[in-house]
Amino acid sequence: MKYVDVKVQKDLLENRLQEGELFTFRCHDGLECFTKCCRNLNLFLYPYDVLQLKNRLNIYSDQFLGSYVDIVLRESNFFPDVLLRMSENAEKTCPFLNDSGCKVYPDRPDTCRTFPLEQGILFQEPSGKATDLYFFKPPDFCLGQYESQEWTTETWSENQGAVFYHEMTAKWSEVKALFHADPWGREGPNGPKGKMAFMAAYNLDKFRDFVFHSTFLKRYKVKADVLKKIKTDDVALMKFGFGWIKLFIWGIKQTYLKKR
Ligand code: SF4
Ligand code: SF4
Repeated sequence: MKYVDVKVQKDLLENRLQEGELFTFRCHDGLECFTKCCRNLNLFLYPYDVLQLKNRLNIYSDQFLGSYVDIVLRESNFFPDVLLRMSENAEKTCPFLNDSGCKVYPDRPDTCRTFPLEQGILFQEPSGKATDLYFFKPPDFCLGQYESQEWTTETWSENQGAVFYHEMTAKWSEVKALFHADPWGREGPNGPKGKMAFMAAYNLDKFRDFVFHSTFLKRYKVKADVLKKIKTDDVALMKFGFGWIKLFIWGIKQTYLKKR
């Protein structure tokens, strides 16, 4: 997901697909380039990606973060990003790549589902309204672009099971966009508050434990139906966590959650 600044990214916008615009693509194991795209990547993982992958691997979110990712702080952003760590081999292959392809395919990350498209978000000033943008500029080695099957961004997203992923990524982008400003002061993003916010977004098992087994519920009043749901529903807990970050860090009111 890219945050697009129209003033500085005119060349990127030239590759933008308009709603309903067609592109051609077909990926299959008969192509010479098969799995070439799963190497040496800067593959950003969003909170919902981490949830799906750690459930796929049947491990705790803590274990997933410890074993599979690098956490990086990019310039001009005050919240860390999560990058899938590539394998330490000559080709730096994705850790989920095996001889027959992607071993986590049904739960592959949003970016992999969206490829060969790239998704971006344009925040319009001063309203802050967010618009999804899609770009089509696959790397030259990707032979799927020369196949004849036609898609629009909508039919491609549906075909790839990406619609809900996009929805969750967009929700996260709203939170992430707040962190273009520095809320941390001298404590910095790695201070106690930063660590708590990161946990709420990416370390869902730990966040559930925090909500139900710390003083959290003495400090926050949560609507009864929401509280019941987040006990077992991971997606509900993730959305709750996004809201909590907005309240905890930025003081943005939430309808289902308030300080006692
Ligand atoms: S067609 Fe493109 S997406 Fe498919 S395997 Fe080849 S490089 Fe990857
Ligand atoms: S998760 Fe799967 S599709 Fe994505 S880069 Fe890794 S092997 Fe390729």
